Amino acid sequence: MNDRYAFIHEEMERLTREGLLVRIRTIGSPPGAYMIVDGRKVLNFCTNNYLGLANDPRLKEAAKKAIDAWGAGPAAVRSIAGTLELHLELERAIADFKGVEDALYVQSGFCANQAAIPPLVGKEDVIFSDRLNHASIIDGCRLSGAKIIVYEHCDPDDAERVIRENLPNYRRGLLVTDGVFSMDGDIAPLDKLYEVASKYGVLTMVDDAHGEGVLGGGRGIVHHFGLQGKFDVEIGTFSKAMGVVGGCIAGRKVMVDYIRQKARPFLFSSATTAADTAACLAAIRILSESEELVQRLWENANYFKKGMQELGFNTGRTETPIIPVILGEAPLAMEFSRRLFEEGVFAMALGFPTVPRGQARIRVMNTAAHTREDLDRGLAAFEKVGRELGVI
Ligand code: PMP
Repeated sequence: MNDRYAFIHEEMERLTREGLLVRIRTIGSPPGAYMIVDGRKVLNFCTNNYLGLANDPRLKEAAKKAIDAWGAGPAAVRSIAGTLELHLELERAIADFKGVEDALYVQSGFCANQAAIPPLVGKEDVIFSDRLNHASIIDGCRLSGAKIIVYEHCDPDDAERVIRENLPNYRRGLLVTDGVFSMDGDIAPLDKLYEVASKYGVLTMVDDAHGEGVLGGGRGIVHHFGLQGKFDVEIGTFSKAMGVVGGCIAGRKVMVDYIRQKARPFLFSSATTAADTAACLAAIRILSESEELVQRLWENANYFKKGMQELGFNTGRTETPIIPVILGEAPLAMEFSRRLFEEGVFAMALGFPTVPRGQARIRVMNTAAHTREDLDRGLAAFEKVGRELGVI
């Protein structure tokens, strides 16, 4: 009999054979320096909770109060009957925080890319995209139907070359880049990319998912480079440093007004809950008032990175608290992660297609929630497993 699922079995077997099968762990506690993972308390280096806000009492209190005031669910998409006063208050706070005219709050960072790119470019247009852009940017680009031309990673000269050679064949162009690249922790040369794009009149967009709460005193990559108000579209997420969930699209009022009219995830999918929205607002307020958590994050990241480099690990080209530990083939990275877990340390292995083949790694996410003692424990576990597996 014809097995309609044969292709699924074959692919699952291949993923297993090549060590690429994603094994999903179950969390049994709030995110923090330690977490219960698959029933076991372990030191956590996996979450994007850069500032430790995901379990902050101020955010939790804001969320609880919002449920009492507004209910559990939004009951509609935002354009029909789901826009709460809270959503608007948050959007005002985002715009002020980022130093732009306006912002639109959507369900996630992934959604924000799907929402923002298709209204800007279509079949007659061209997108210039960094080779290592995040999957949500790539999918947003594909959804637009525009021609996608990749430039070499973080290379403004190559960006200029592809713009110069291709732009004349299209109606308009959009240059899009991650701010901080989530697999390597390196930072896009935003100032130079902006210069190139401006020279050719190309629209500009940056996804600052891993820069917010981290760079520019917490205000993100655009502040880091002093380019406030310059990029046409700034994408953000509330799921990382902000500790909640949700995404945003920020920029000039005319741009955000336009995207509000056109963005399909905004127009056709329900709004985020009041609890999420209020917790996001609390996070923005905390970050607007103090840089203390951001400074602690950087102290921890610098300490851990130095420790790993002294042990002889290859931490790639990171410039941020994302610390890749590059090991090579996926099965080695998986085995390394498994052995770390046995030592009580939770740090996930990442392989193809999340990172290029042959560059499988463990990714360590530092946070402000870790103490020096936690970091020393982590370093000791890496040293032990690294020596046992012959990596250092
Ligand atoms: N953009 C980038 C650059 C990201 O790293 C991520 C998260 N992995 C996202 C967007 C998606 O964000 P969210 O989890 O809020 O959907």
